[in-house]
Amino acid sequence: MIKFHKLLLPLEKFHIPDFTRIPSNKADLVQKLNNEILSNKYRLLPTKCLCGGQDFDIIATVDKYSVLLPTVMCRTCGTIQTNPRFSELFYKELFQSDTLNKIYYLDEDLEHFVLQQFTINSGQHILKAVEKYKIINDSTKVAEIGSGAGWNLIPFINKGAQVLGFEHNKDMVQLAKKYNVPVVAGDENNLVGEYDVIILNYALERMYKPILSLLKIADHLKSNGIIYISASFNLYFNQNLFSLPQIFYFTPYSLKYFGSEANLIPVKIEFLNNYTFYGIFKKGFYHNQELLNQNLAFTKKRLKKYNLLETLRLSKKIKSLNNVPGKIFFNQTNEKF
Ligand SMILES: [Zn+2]
Repeated sequence: MIKFHKLLLPLEKFHIPDFTRIPSNKADLVQKLNNEILSNKYRLLPTKCLCGGQDFDIIATVDKYSVLLPTVMCRTCGTIQTNPRFSELFYKELFQSDTLNKIYYLDEDLEHFVLQQFTINSGQHILKAVEKYKIINDSTKVAEIGSGAGWNLIPFINKGAQVLGFEHNKDMVQLAKKYNVPVVAGDENNLVGEYDVIILNYALERMYKPILSLLKIADHLKSNGIIYISASFNLYFNQNLFSLPQIFYFTPYSLKYFGSEANLIPVKIEFLNNYTFYGIFKKGFYHNQELLNQNLAFTKKRLKKYNLLETLRLSKKIKSLNNVPGKIFFNQTNEKF
């Protein structure tokens, strides 16, 4: 049985919505979404961890933009995740919706944003990381899952590679078409044939069943192909960095472990900056149970460090969940928080 035990992060910024921190046009959308969540419009289900763990401690009940969101840590492997979880359909609709872009990404219109991404050449660092392991030329096939309008693929196109992006958001697909970048509607389920390189740029952490998705993706990887996975590193517990679109918060330890569950071997793991890391994986068998213990110890250590630092800064503590709106997520459990 899935259980939510104690409250690990009792600081107000993780539990009290604060609309003064966000622009009013976003605040209206957040309020609307929160009202829907409070009125039980969406069914949230307690879900087992990717490691099989069923025991969780509560970390947060709001995200960085004050959206009501239950975020917990698995007691077995330390993986932070949304739980109880919205349905797969909820996420599918969310990723197709305007609401998501307007709350989390855009301060201007979508086309302007896309053009900006084209200009800053955001795929250049992916190409650089990938080129250490793979020659990119006109015989290379590259796919990206969750590609947006395909901006990451442009440096690969410039090298002559055959590329294809897959994206849920229809407006993004339309914009890709307008600017001649090959992007189609869909995800890993729509992959056909085999690729030399498959890119998941902050996409794995948003997948509903990441190990299953990785297994599907690996099925479309050539025997000597590589997968590039970048992930957000958000384990700074003096600030609320949780966000609704992200379901899992990986670390280098957990990325390696869950990669191995999908028969992928890490070739390289590297931090790009304080908030981002990536891994290059190839097909193969590898197992190291110790990674889960390391992940748990690592996460706990960081929680303790930042929690103590915050307490010193006189942040207001939440004594129990009774007085916060996010209590609705844990109403059905018997334990008191
Ligand atoms: Zn776990």
